[in-house]
Amino acid sequence: MTRVLVVSPHPDDESIGCGGTLRRHVVRGDDVHVIHLTSGEQGGDGRPPHETARIRETEAEAAAAVLGLTQFEFWRQPDGAIRATKHLVEQLRGSIERFRPRIIYVTHAREMHPDHRAAVRLVRQSLSGLRSQTRAPRVLTFEVWTPMQDMDEIVDISPYIETKMQAIRAHRSQCDIMRFDDAALGLARYRGEMHLWPGGDYAEIFCELRPRS
Ligand SMILES: [Zn+2]
Repeated sequence: MTRVLVVSPHPDDESIGCGGTLRRHVVRGDDVHVIHLTSGEQGGDGRPPHETARIRETEAEAAAAVLGLTQFEFWRQPDGAIRATKHLVEQLRGSIERFRPRIIYVTHAREMHPDHRAAVRLVRQSLSGLRSQTRAPRVLTFEVWTPMQDMDEIVDISPYIETKMQAIRAHRSQCDIMRFDDAALGLARYRGEMHLWPGGDYAEIFCELRPRS
């Protein structure tokens, strides 16, 4: 049983970026915990922020149910303005020291969305001051808005692609604005054909975050 922590900037990033891999962890009996840094209140397409946040938290719960995830938290940081403040870094460090994950999944450092870059900075800074008895987890970064050019892990998600699609579609308010489901399906298909050898159906890829030397 592996303990896995997911740091998701907005509700939907966890499903779009690594929904298939998370499902694979759940099927294997791993212990998966998701932190939604914001509740995505600015993604309401004209709806008031407080109402959007409520809707998106409900959708995140529905997506979690699809993936079989039972542990998730909403940290309600400002959507569009996540900052790796000292307080937030300490809060995440505390969670890591308590949960002691072996793997952390977070958005990658070159994502075009500033919140996604802030999320990985937050993870990096939280890990730099871990108590010495806490073993440093492996950090695997995933793609949402900006496809990656490098990869260290290629996960065959062919058995879970339908579940991943259902999880993405559970974020209904977002799929109504943009067809994230179609975009993610296309990218997973591309990753599967181009990176699984000798050519698989669907894949998610990850790049390892290495400590700065
Ligand atoms: Zn996002």
